[in-house]
Amino acid sequence: MKKLFYIDYPQESFEGQMHRYRCAHCKVETTTINGRLEGHLPSCEYRIQLEKIGHEAQGDCATTTLTNADDFD
Ligand SMILES: [Zn+2]
Repeated sequence: MKKLFYIDYPQESFEGQMHRYRCAHCKVETTTINGRLEGHLPSCEYRIQLEKIGHEAQGDCATTTLTNADDFD
């Protein structure tokens, strides 16, 4: 199970920098996470919760897009 983009994690803004956001759990900036589950730290509560229900953190989102034809699930 894998979503194309993981963007439903709790976010908070950097102090004094309202246009910059980071994950409220692992504090990684959203531009670094870039919608990827593996963009969160392995210790991130959001990532742990999703991995617990079967989502996989993988290194390469692009291949998932390219192999969509196989995805009959
Ligand atoms: Zn996180």
